[in-house]
Order: sequence, then structure tokens, then C-alpha cells
Amino acid sequence: MTPFDYQRASSIDEAVRLGAQPGAMFLGGGTNLVDLAKGGVVRPRLLVDVSRLPLASIAETPAGGLHIGAAVRNSDAANHPLVRRRWPLLAQALVAGASAQLRNMATVGGNLLQRTRCAYFYDVGFEHCNKRAPGSGCDAIAGVNRQHAILGASPSCIATHPSDLCVALAALRAVVRVRGPRGERTVAFADFHRLPGDAPQRDTTLADGELVTAVELPPSRFERHAHYLKVRDRASYAFALVSVAAALELQDGRVRDAALALGGVAHKPWRVPAAEQALVGRPLSADSMAAAADALLAGAAPQTRNGFKVTMARRAVARALQVAGEQA
Ligand code: SF4
Repeated sequence: MTPFDYQRASSIDEAVRLGAQPGAMFLGGGTNLVDLAKGGVVRPRLLVDVSRLPLASIAETPAGGLHIGAAVRNSDAANHPLVRRRWPLLAQALVAGASAQLRNMATVGGNLLQRTRCAYFYDVGFEHCNKRAPGSGCDAIAGVNRQHAILGASPSCIATHPSDLCVALAALRAVVRVRGPRGERTVAFADFHRLPGDAPQRDTTLADGELVTAVELPPSRFERHAHYLKVRDRASYAFALVSVAAALELQDGRVRDAALALGGVAHKPWRVPAAEQALVGRPLSADSMAAAADALLAGAAPQTRNGFKVTMARRAVARALQVAGEQA
């Protein structure tokens, strides 16, 4: 690990001021960033500790939505009565991530900013990683790419986003609250993470020095029918090969509204509104679920070792929707 300075921010304004300094990085729970720094994957000059800022509240918004502060620990969000009762998809996705110990440390804001688990990115012994060393190439393209993207990849990078929480947030049409040197703004969740394009070193659309302060969800219409399905190599403490966040609003045997997104398949959580529209107004059936999967997987382009993910994703979509639809 290279030497760095450490400062604990005592206010959001101070955090933003410190975060604007060259080489500064925000430190929340540290469950990803500390590993990256130890391995020499990232080399911050200044760590700005934002874990003690007054950003740890969970509350209903005046409009009946949900506000989760960026410093809320994942376990606290997963176990909060309001989240469990009204946004069960979120609670399920949180519990599917990492281990209990990690969830006790990791923050919601940090979860949005965690980096890909591509092995070539983490191991600095591999020279060619455009995300770690822009312009160096991508060892994963001709390497072991079983875990990698089947959608939205580029010749520069085929990595996937590792979060479970973010898949549920994408499906539920969250917004991200951000504070930066130019003030406060909100970002639709669909616009928060980037596809790799020719700049895979940038995971998000955050500007330099911008701090995530909260995520907010619209009022829940998916209290009764929600299922987060994570398919992985072992039953716990593993990243998704494919995951599905599925939630339904049902009325008189038909789908009135749907929330649907895939994880483990792209550089960002993969939501396609046309997939939800393929379900709306129809009874939940094998045909409608297949149409939704078709829309989600349109344009899928597997790597050399992960063609199985297309079939797996198709089946996982049907399974997640079926389980969600069966819940009372
Ligand atoms: Fe790096 Fe992306 Fe290639 Fe992995 S897939 S080696 S993160 S450029």
C-alpha cells in the first residue's frame, strides 16, 4: 500500500471541499476500497472519511417514498422495518450481498461505488487492464471471462458491476442524491452507472469531488410481489453469475406494473423498460415472461467462456417473475 493522508470530515461541506483535492477518495465502510488500496489497484493520496457524517437515516419521504442516507450500513437498511415491509425487493437484494460481517460495515453509498470483481483488475501482475491502467488493453477478452459481461461490453472492457443492491435500485427506479463543488443534484439511477465504452476507468457519471449523500425510491407499488434471485457458484459469499430483481403489481389476474432488472451481465445494472412493458396489461404467463426476457437480452453478445449466461438469464427471469407472482 502506498502512503496516503487521512482526514475525517466533520460536515458534508468539509467532505466536498476535501474530496475536490487531487488524488482524494471518499472512505465509507472501506470494504472494497481498503482491499483495492492494499493491492495497489488504487493509490489515493488522501482518504476522506465520510462514515461519520449525518447521512445515516432511513425515512419515508413526504411523497411516501423511501430515503436512505449514504452512510447507512447495508445490514441496517436490510433489517429496517420500513424497508422490509414496503420495499422487500431491496431488503432481499441487500441480504443476498456479501456476508453478514461485510454488510455490517459496508455503506449504501459505498455499495453504489464498488468496483468490478474482474480478477485481472484486482491482480496488478496482469499488465493489461484498461480500467486500472487506461490504454493498456484488456486481458479478460482472451482470458478467463466466465464471470464477464454479455451485454453492453466494449472492445476496451467486458467487466460486470458486482452489486446486488444496485440491481434492485435500478428495477425500482431509484434516484441518487449527490453533493459536489457545484452544489446538489439528483441523478436517475439508470444514468448513474456507465457502460465502459472507451473509458472503462470511469464507472459512474459522478464528476470529480461529488459525494453520494442518499438514494431515494418512489412510493412502493411492489410490496406484495417481489423476488430477488441470485445465481452463483456457491450458496453464499459469491458474486452473481446472473441475478434478477423482479417485482409486480397485480390486479384482477393481470400485471398492472412491473419492475425488472438483471445483474451480473453488464458494466451496470441492466434494466430495459420494454421488458417491463412486455408484462404490463397481460396475465403472467410463460409467453409474457419469455417476451420480457427477450427484451432484456436483446443484443446479448457473450464472451468466449460465458455463452451459458444467456440461457441462465432467460431462465432466471422466468423463475424470479414466477416466484414474485406467486407471493400473496
Ligand atoms: Fe480490466 Fe475491464 Fe478487461 Fe477486466 S474486463 S481486465 S476490468 S479492462
